[in-house]
Amino acid sequence: MRKVEKAGEDEKEVKRKGKKQRKKREGSKKWEKYIVGEDGIKRKNKFCPRCGPGVFLAEHADRLTCGGCGYTIFKERKS
Ligand SMILES: [Zn+2]
Repeated sequence: MRKVEKAGEDEKEVKRKGKKQRKKREGSKKWEKYIVGEDGIKRKNKFCPRCGPGVFLAEHADRLTCGGCGYTIFKERKS
């Protein structure tokens, strides 16, 4: 009698040993949100009030959104 179950286990082990394909992650590019000037570092975007300092709000045409918690600030239209 062949043990089919054990063969299955071996197969799993082989898969584990195989090299994992790592996807290259693009960072959050936080450094691009800073402007280093003569009078220090300036921040381009606002921080998220929910996530706290360090989490920037992404700027859109009509709103600012947080990628972390989904917090959204709608820009007031001045007309
Ligand atoms: Zn947030």
